[in-house]
Amino acid sequence: MVKKVLGLFVFFTLTGLSFSAGYFVYAHFNPKFADLTPEEMYSTITQDRALAIKLAEKRGDYKCCIEPPCTMCYDGPTKWNYNQPGKCFCDDFIARGEEPCPQCKKGVCSSTNHEDSKNSPYCLINQTNSSKINNN
Ligand SMILES: [Zn+2]
Repeated sequence: MVKKVLGLFVFFTLTGLSFSAGYFVYAHFNPKFADLTPEEMYSTITQDRALAIKLAEKRGDYKCCIEPPCTMCYDGPTKWNYNQPGKCFCDDFIARGEEPCPQCKKGVCSSTNHEDSKNSPYCLINQTNSSKINNN
């Protein structure tokens, strides 16, 4: 009986020790977010968001038109994700000749990869506006 109790005691002690050792190893490689420096917080959030966007693209929920994809559609409800944060349908807007989100618009209107889209009305409006600003 004493041997059985002692055996159980040893078993639980060892289990407890390995769990807490596991915890410390885990905590070392995954420090608490609140303990990170502001720079580490920023890079953690942006890396996690980039991964989330990549997975959303695979699901077909992120149809962006620039590379790397826009982030503003991910961050909140907009008309370009039909008020569904985490999704992006800028590609649909461009296909209909409508204006994509400001990040995509900037990318599309300045990139040589989008020669066709560069002549879209929303890019031309942008040019007119900027030349107006330059004249003033
Ligand atoms: Zn976009």
